[in-house]
Amino acid sequence: MSPPIQIPSSNPKANYLAHKGEIDAAIARVLESGWYILGREVQSFEQEFAAYIGVHDAIGVANGTDALKLSLQACGVGVGDLVFTVSHTAVATVAAIELAGATPVLVDIDPVTYTMDPNCLEDALAHPWDGTPKAVIPVHLYGHPADMVSILELANRHALYVIEDCAQSHGATLDGRMTGAWGDIASFSFYPTKNLGALGDGGMIVTDNPALAERTRLLQQYGWRERYISDIPGGNSRLDELQAAILRVKLRFLDADNEKRRSIAALYTDHLVKAGFSCPVLSKKSRHIFHQYVICSSRRDNLKTYLNERGIGTNVHYPQAVHEQPAYAGRIPVSAPLTYTEKAVREILSLPMYPELTLEQAKFVVDALLAWKKSL
Ligand SMILES: *Cc1c(COP(=O)(O)O)cnc(C)c1O
Repeated sequence: MSPPIQIPSSNPKANYLAHKGEIDAAIARVLESGWYILGREVQSFEQEFAAYIGVHDAIGVANGTDALKLSLQACGVGVGDLVFTVSHTAVATVAAIELAGATPVLVDIDPVTYTMDPNCLEDALAHPWDGTPKAVIPVHLYGHPADMVSILELANRHALYVIEDCAQSHGATLDGRMTGAWGDIASFSFYPTKNLGALGDGGMIVTDNPALAERTRLLQQYGWRERYISDIPGGNSRLDELQAAILRVKLRFLDADNEKRRSIAALYTDHLVKAGFSCPVLSKKSRHIFHQYVICSSRRDNLKTYLNERGIGTNVHYPQAVHEQPAYAGRIPVSAPLTYTEKAVREILSLPMYPELTLEQAKFVVDALLAWKKSL
């Protein structure tokens, strides 16, 4: 039997405790206000988040999956349309495309950054698919920005909307510009373990395009421009006041928390590269915010068990590529063999990563990895 995990792979409770006083006060403020849906907290958080990303509009929604679905719908993507994305992602990216009624087309990743390979996107766009190419969803996976310059260039050439999936990249930048400020529209998740995490569900859509912002607001609440009068058919996907108040506190600490993640990552890389581990690669152009710190090894399962037996929690993000999962296998168009996607799935391992992980704890993780290497 393994000992109880002493160092978990993520730790949302530690982040709550780190800011407990302010979060408790924010919760009490909402409870006392008597206003629990779409009020001052959501409005303020939307403004603060838009300013943080550097875009004009932000619209709070219920979760990250809804944020993607509503972004697609705001762009007019629906039945008969093709949306290009990756198979190496949270299933939500692909699920949202189908929820919008469109057809996902999955392309391979770059083996170094684990994000969409623009060359694979280009090949996929040259293929005669059954449907109308309408949008591309790059995913800034693990907190590493996708190659937005190449992807935007291809999207412009093919008149595609670019919808960034920023569920893992709150605060990551490319060429000094935030992820979420590159495409036509972008979606964020505030699932508790994300870099900016609620104490429950939450999501956000950001855009600089006023027409897309307006359509998103309508879709978000019954198509209402005026209360009780639906202009267009819509649904209900609201961020609530409690989560917005909590997220306003946490947003103020996001940059500092991301810096802590980067310090832990630097410590990991420093020791592990020397020992021959395959570690995340930093690029001068981007600021990686390490939602996950992912190494890869051909003996991944053995390593995972070894660490687990020493009280170190790890995870595999994700254990099966979307196109191989029972819900999608054989049904979703896949552009060329997804060689690097399928290789990654077999080899990746996410090490413990959260801002409150101390450097001493990170060193303990490193020592276990080095001991495993020696034992081989
Ligand atoms: C978490 C996540 C989502 C979905 O967010 P939810 O809030 O859980 O719906 C979408 N895409 C990616 C890449 C994610 O990591």
